[in-house]
Amino acid sequence: MVLDPATLTVAFVLLSAVLGTLLIFSWTLNRRLNAMAWWGSAFWLIGIGIGTANLGKGPPSYPVLLLANAAGILAYGALYVGCRIFNDRRGLIIPLGLGVAIWAAAFPFIYDSQGYRLILACILTGSYSGLAAWELWRHAVQPLASQRVAVVLLSGLAVFNLLRGLLGISLTSVPWIDSFGRRWSSEMALFLVVIGPTLAFMFLSMAKERLKFEYKQAALVDDLTGIPNRRAFLQAASRLLDRLHDRPASCLLFDLDNFKAINDRHGHAAGDRILGVFARTLSDNLPKGTFGRLGGEEFAAILPMGEKDAARLAENIRHAFAEAGRAALATNEEVTVSIGCATVSRSMTEDLLRRADRALYRAKESGRNIVVMA
Ligand code: GH3
Ligand code: MG
Ligand code: MG
Repeated sequence: MVLDPATLTVAFVLLSAVLGTLLIFSWTLNRRLNAMAWWGSAFWLIGIGIGTANLGKGPPSYPVLLLANAAGILAYGALYVGCRIFNDRRGLIIPLGLGVAIWAAAFPFIYDSQGYRLILACILTGSYSGLAAWELWRHAVQPLASQRVAVVLLSGLAVFNLLRGLLGISLTSVPWIDSFGRRWSSEMALFLVVIGPTLAFMFLSMAKERLKFEYKQAALVDDLTGIPNRRAFLQAASRLLDRLHDRPASCLLFDLDNFKAINDRHGHAAGDRILGVFARTLSDNLPKGTFGRLGGEEFAAILPMGEKDAARLAENIRHAFAEAGRAALATNEEVTVSIGCATVSRSMTEDLLRRADRALYRAKESGRNIVVMA
């Protein structure tokens, strides 16, 4: 079967336009994901570049060669910048413009050598693809499965472009290598027709995964303090109890003392600040994922340890908060916490919390600012 380069080129150009439009459309649905607009523009630019260079009659002229390749290189720049934006990283203009600037500066000197033109264009596009793969791999904000697939695809694109640059200058007698190294061939068009939609699909998939991750995060994190909320804490607690089997688990239940009075005297904003201070005290003293805000001025922690160790930790937290709370209010007033602690083995979360709650009640009855064991 003979694959006609011109037909494949038309297919590739149309496909790029459709994929670019789809990516830009998905950006209009969620304007926060600016990377989609950059990737969409990259698909349009590569379509324009390859279409302009290959669909005209006769060999391309000086301005066509200059501009068509510039569009292609800019496309790869936009691809890379899109990856940086996806990872919330700065530094966009220089990485975007550098490739085109190098191309434009070198073009007058290499215009009449197809080999040099090919090498330079391939080094630039290969480097951009490699950088894009590196960016998505090294600086991923969340562990997204589709982002890892995109890293593989972009690495493949980098190898493809760099190999083309190398093969373009070597004379071989192997037809497929030669057609691979030529300026444009059916094989190359076919490769791009396959990798283009796969890459676009991965970008869309990354956006979807990112949104899902963020919604999940929002459902499990307390807005005010940034620590796990009640739902996340209860999930973590049952997971830990399941894992521990017969080994002991301790639950600490915290309730800030006379918090209503603090709000009344210093204002709600100061109260919020104190809640943040307490959350930070927990973060400083307990392993990640073992504590959360149950609601209001009540917090809880669940720990894989016996009574003695739990009591010691609770005392540490009580002291640390008394100090940090006073500093936050900038008065001599005391801000304290009462703590109820219960230790069980082989129990349900609800039972453990109930016991700790009874201990907390006794702590309040005993005059507050105290740790009471169930
Ligand atoms: P006790 O020592 O017996 O626990 O007394 P308390 O005043 O801490 O307890 P009470 O349950 O009477 O009051 C809790 C207060 O916590 C009432 C409410 O206004 C305040 N509160 C709950 N959630 C928030 C919040 O998100 N921000 C602020 N600033 N205050 C809150
Ligand atoms: Mg309370
Ligand atoms: Mg309270």
